[in-house]
Amino acid sequence: MELVNLKDASDKVSFSQAVAKGLGKHQGLYFPVEIPKLENIEALLDMPFVERSTALLHRLIGDELGAGVLDEIVQTAFDFNVPVTQINEDIYTLELFHGPTLAFKDFGGRFMAQCLSRIARGKPVTILTATSGDTGAAVAHAFHGIENINVVILFPKGKISPLQEKLFSTLGDNIHTVAVDGDFDSCQALVKQAFDDPQVRDDLHLNSANSINISRLLAQVCYYFEAVSQLPAERRKELVVSVPSGNFGNLTAGLIAKAMGLPVKRFIAATNTNDTVPRFLKTGEWDPKATVATISNAMDVSQPNNWPRIEALIEKGYIDKHSVHGEAVDEQYTQLAMRQLAQAGYTSEPHAAVAYRVLSHSLEEGETGLFLGTAHPAKFRETVENVLGQPISLPPELASVVGEDSLAVELNASYEELKAHMQHLLKDKQ
Ligand SMILES: *Cc1c(COP(=O)(O)O)cnc(C)c1O
Repeated sequence: MELVNLKDASDKVSFSQAVAKGLGKHQGLYFPVEIPKLENIEALLDMPFVERSTALLHRLIGDELGAGVLDEIVQTAFDFNVPVTQINEDIYTLELFHGPTLAFKDFGGRFMAQCLSRIARGKPVTILTATSGDTGAAVAHAFHGIENINVVILFPKGKISPLQEKLFSTLGDNIHTVAVDGDFDSCQALVKQAFDDPQVRDDLHLNSANSINISRLLAQVCYYFEAVSQLPAERRKELVVSVPSGNFGNLTAGLIAKAMGLPVKRFIAATNTNDTVPRFLKTGEWDPKATVATISNAMDVSQPNNWPRIEALIEKGYIDKHSVHGEAVDEQYTQLAMRQLAQAGYTSEPHAAVAYRVLSHSLEEGETGLFLGTAHPAKFRETVENVLGQPISLPPELASVVGEDSLAVELNASYEELKAHMQHLLKDKQ
């Protein structure tokens, strides 16, 4: 597979190089030089998930990882269920939260970990990443126990839910967690400083594992095919897919699936009040406002960094711009949508509810709707219990960590402290 830097056409790399580097020169995103158009869609849809996903990724990535390696990677990474559940006569949901950390980020995180561990070929790597919740847990679980890869996760002390924190700070071994006395932005600033410090970047072989890594997106292409495969055949023709969006990686993956030939009539980019993209789609003006906090906090992003990839899909003619429609949902309607879903017998959480709200209002006669369920409702237990007025139970993944102690080390938001801590942690491992 060949990829090109969207900010510098002379910067071309292989899949392995793009995975190892993350971002290209001038902070440019890597984009496939060519997206293959598949002809045998019906036959692919008849295959089981793991087998089909291997075939899809093989078409995208090619042979560069070596014979049989991709099969191994996909089998290890995608070892949990991806069910489609019917909500009402015309609307279905794809549940992406049955992985070890109960959010769709498990797909990308696990696939990336398996790819990177093979690409690094035993050379030591340090993953340094800042999290506001879901990414940290997915990355920590995905890399837990992988030899020669150490993970350092920074999170803002007291600012993520206690359950979110327990999911990754109790693992230990090669997973090191740091509770920073500051907010998410100060954690991100510390990560940036580390990447700008050659002594740390080169000595510790830093990699960020963040959501702009191409391997994470390619993994996500696979579950859009799975969604269509589980729909009754007569429901596949006029399909509208609604994606709860923050950084827009998930929607990018859906559009790549469509470019490859997956039959989706149109996509909905559903956001919370951080509505840069819906406003842009209506006015043509890119005008990010200050980020505001909402109950769908994983989508509190006002400068989505995957958007240039969506523009490239449109500019290169893979996607007709009229097949992407954007709409924002405020807090009140998000809560209303959660209650409507509960009335239909389905317990959901704020992110999926945003997608459901826009979908149920834009679906036309004869169309079938599908929204992505991006996280398990128990991950947002307090909000869900408050809005629905009833207790919800914890799945085993959360119940088993509730009583365990956090192993996180507390640090001030000081780069010198972080650097000393990392050098001490990793001194024998490079
Ligand atoms: C990360 C996340 C999103 C946003 O996904 P993007 O790919 O960044 O648009 C939506 N819902 C949940 C639960 C998330 O964790």
